[in-house]
Amino acid sequence: MPNWKQHRLIVIVGIWILLFSGCSTASGITHYFKSTDHFKEFPKDNRIFYEKEGEKFADIIAELLPSSIRMVEDKQYNHFLKPIKIYICATTKSFKDMTGRDVKAITYRGAIFLSPTSMNEQRTIKGYLTHELSHLLINQYGGTFIGAKVPSWFLEGLATYVSGGGGAEDITDDKAIAYILQGKHFTPELNGGFIFRKTASSYGLKPHMFYRQSALFVAFIKEYDETAFQKLLSGIYNGESFKKSFKNSYNISIDQLWSNFVIQKGQTYFSRFSLDNEMKGKKPIIVRYTIYRS
Ligand SMILES: [Zn+2]
Repeated sequence: MPNWKQHRLIVIVGIWILLFSGCSTASGITHYFKSTDHFKEFPKDNRIFYEKEGEKFADIIAELLPSSIRMVEDKQYNHFLKPIKIYICATTKSFKDMTGRDVKAITYRGAIFLSPTSMNEQRTIKGYLTHELSHLLINQYGGTFIGAKVPSWFLEGLATYVSGGGGAEDITDDKAIAYILQGKHFTPELNGGFIFRKTASSYGLKPHMFYRQSALFVAFIKEYDETAFQKLLSGIYNGESFKKSFKNSYNISIDQLWSNFVIQKGQTYFSRFSLDNEMKGKKPIIVRYTIYRS
């Protein structure tokens, strides 16, 4: 029988699970407390725990893990604060039993859970692993409720950018840019959210499209001013909200940055495709994006 502290934790976790969605969270209250005792420590790497039948999967992850960690630590200018734990689920059923979600990978309970579906294509495994490691590093500093302080476009965009497109492999950069130029895009809010947290569906986008667009914008704001980008991340690691940290780091509004981003991507896109499409007799893309004023 849970004591009052556990009851309080169950209520808090329950609220969190009901309100949050996305690859970095899970949705089943009963799953949060499921025992992981049946996962065995992988002999080649004690950060990896696997279920029976998942040994081959664990072996592949052990190979990829050191370079994936380096990618995240290099691009996020920080090291992991706590030991990394990765749980390899042998079946999609056990992944769903453990996490309550039917996705390929998730950062949950201070660890990473991987479904065997993330192994479907060899070329995408490292991307999924690195994407989740990005979430894990941020969560280790910012805590479980980091999503309340940092908007999902930044968390998902960062993880997708850092992992070289992990979690967004269904959408190319060009397709994401074409959507942005047609006005079908997320808006870069400064606020995270507990109750009204925005995700891909809030903008009428599929997750891979949302992740790809967000990653392009995160890469852009880093390229625009890398010192400011480092300062922004540093603020988040120190527990500041994204809004506060952004304002302390950049001397430009997020809306103006977005306008610059759209103009730059539009110029590149049209210079590459307009003439080609015209020659093929294709209709021009109707541009409906908004230029913000700061
Ligand atoms: Zn994610």
